[in-house]
Amino acid sequence: MGVEAKKETLGFQTEARQLLHLMIHSLYSNKEIFLRELISNASDAADKLRFAALAKPELLEDDPELKITVDFDPKKKTITISDNGIGMNREEIIENLGTIAKSGTAQFLESLTGDEKKDSRLIGQFGVGFYSAFIVADKVEVYSRKAGEPAGQGVKWESAGEADFNVESVDKSDRGTSIVLHLKKDEKEFAEGYRLRGIVRKYADHISIPVMMVKEEPGDKDKKADKKAPEYEAVNTAQALWIRPRTELKDEEYKEFYKHISHDFGDPLDWSHNKVEGKLEYTSLLYLPARAPFDMWNRDAARGLKLYVQRVFIMDDAEQFLPLYLRFIKGVVDSNDISLNVSREILQKDPAVDSMKSALTKRVLDMLAKLKKKDKDAYQKFWNEFGQILKEGPAEDYANREKIAKLLLFATTHTETSLQDQSLEDYVSRMKDGQDKIYYIAAESYNTARNSPHLEVFRKKGIEVLLLSDRVDEWFVSHLMEFDGKSFQDVTRGELDLGKLDSEEEKKQHEEIDKQAEPLLKRLKDSLGDAVSEVRTTHRLTDSPACLSIAEHDMGAQMRKIMEAAGQKMPEFKPIFEINPAHPLVAKLDAEANEARFNDLAAILFDQASLAEGGQLDDPGSYIRRLNKLLLDLSGQ
Ligand code: ADP
Ligand code: MG
Repeated sequence: MGVEAKKETLGFQTEARQLLHLMIHSLYSNKEIFLRELISNASDAADKLRFAALAKPELLEDDPELKITVDFDPKKKTITISDNGIGMNREEIIENLGTIAKSGTAQFLESLTGDEKKDSRLIGQFGVGFYSAFIVADKVEVYSRKAGEPAGQGVKWESAGEADFNVESVDKSDRGTSIVLHLKKDEKEFAEGYRLRGIVRKYADHISIPVMMVKEEPGDKDKKADKKAPEYEAVNTAQALWIRPRTELKDEEYKEFYKHISHDFGDPLDWSHNKVEGKLEYTSLLYLPARAPFDMWNRDAARGLKLYVQRVFIMDDAEQFLPLYLRFIKGVVDSNDISLNVSREILQKDPAVDSMKSALTKRVLDMLAKLKKKDKDAYQKFWNEFGQILKEGPAEDYANREKIAKLLLFATTHTETSLQDQSLEDYVSRMKDGQDKIYYIAAESYNTARNSPHLEVFRKKGIEVLLLSDRVDEWFVSHLMEFDGKSFQDVTRGELDLGKLDSEEEKKQHEEIDKQAEPLLKRLKDSLGDAVSEVRTTHRLTDSPACLSIAEHDMGAQMRKIMEAAGQKMPEFKPIFEINPAHPLVAKLDAEANEARFNDLAAILFDQASLAEGGQLDDPGSYIRRLNKLLLDLSGQ
């Protein structure tokens, strides 16, 4: 044998080492999950082999029945989990068990707090995987031989779960992977038949291939080991879970299956399991996770469903079956119409996939609508985790705009908190007589929105306004356009027109006041010059002297900031300066004969209006100087 035969010691990748350490120290309260993770990997390996064997049947050798075996030895304190799946060669074993390939691992590790309780929850988002073996073992040996390679190409991996691991070439006659756990002293009770069976049934019943264990006859324990070969039996149901009828499945089984396919540690919020018959035949099982994965915002993060064709696993992350704005959904789709040797490229062009995509989209939206109705708290959890992603929906999926709109939740002036918990239906039910628009304000933060001067008249008249402060909001509302026949109106945009909400009398009054203010408006425009596009009066203010507004078709401040942050050069923007003619400061301004003082006061009011908008001053130094001068004037010095 060549150089490869030699034993080499390699260090774990830094991230792998950190994760290992964390795992060992934070998952002690839920130790038995190691078996779930290892059986889950064995089942994945069987799936991969079955798929590879579609093109190369000889990979199955003379051993076509895929299965997993769990053995144990109480004397030696070992548990051995074996599979006859795809196996790994030397490079693969180093790559797969020595590093963590997941993108964003470094960020994930940075997000850890050092608080074990919190971190153990976080680690669930990450998916614990193979390293969970070290929760119960102080030494792990992995023997593997890749399908299709000769017995001499086996490889042994061994580690005590500290800084490094050894790899050496070995002979392995049977294909697949065998993992030997040398249990820690305190964990030796795991090497016991009854206990192991219980864990397998609890966590791996849904695995579609048999998990075999030695048959235990009553009284076996007392017998001296007899010579005949032990008899094995399947401990699990060994049937693809999604094929079984809904009525037969318990919630617990659905939950465990979710953990297997999602690599999530926690329970899902909800799921939808459906069998479709007719022109297209497929089964889908879609899960709504309770928490966003750590790499949700990572563009190349895995998304999509697990695709099976007639029970045969075809691929992970088949993203063609759901739109991007539902990328948080996990699940399985098993089709009878797609060809077994399908590729991602073919999927993209297959019209059957398109119709499945629209049907599955509808399923998800229906599942969300149902959850919203039946369990407010659960829905709120969903919204807090994934609401921002769902907001991409109206832009991406015009046809389902109305359905998506019904799922949205907002913070509004109706409540006192920043929690987004009011639906558009709630809003519409509270609309005033004569109100025909849904009013909103979009700002950098909840507090900026909530305290904006633009809301003053709405508050006075008791009209509710949606308070939008997510980055995507301005863009998203522009795609939403209307709800229940009512259009959305940005309260900072254009001239305030409350339509029927203003009485004739009020309108007349306003006209008169506006007329009187004309000379002041001219003086202000001359004073502020190019900083503003227009100066006009407004009746949207009650407490504030002035505010800024934008023209009907100008881009809003939030959008502009996003574009600028993305490096886009934006045309120079000039706001409209609106003054409240009823405000004493404005009256004072009007009465100010000293031109210099008039200019100072005008500049201060303008800068303040900009600050209230969450804007940044062009020249904060001058603002402060002017303001201080004014304060000194006031105190009579
Ligand atoms: P994950 O299952 O999320 O990919 P794991 O840490 O559980 O992460 O496993 C890491 C990788 O090691 C797997 O993706 C797989 O490539 C490989 N692996 C683990 N167990 C086996 C096995 N029994 N047979 C073949 N490959 C395996
Ligand atoms: Mg795994």
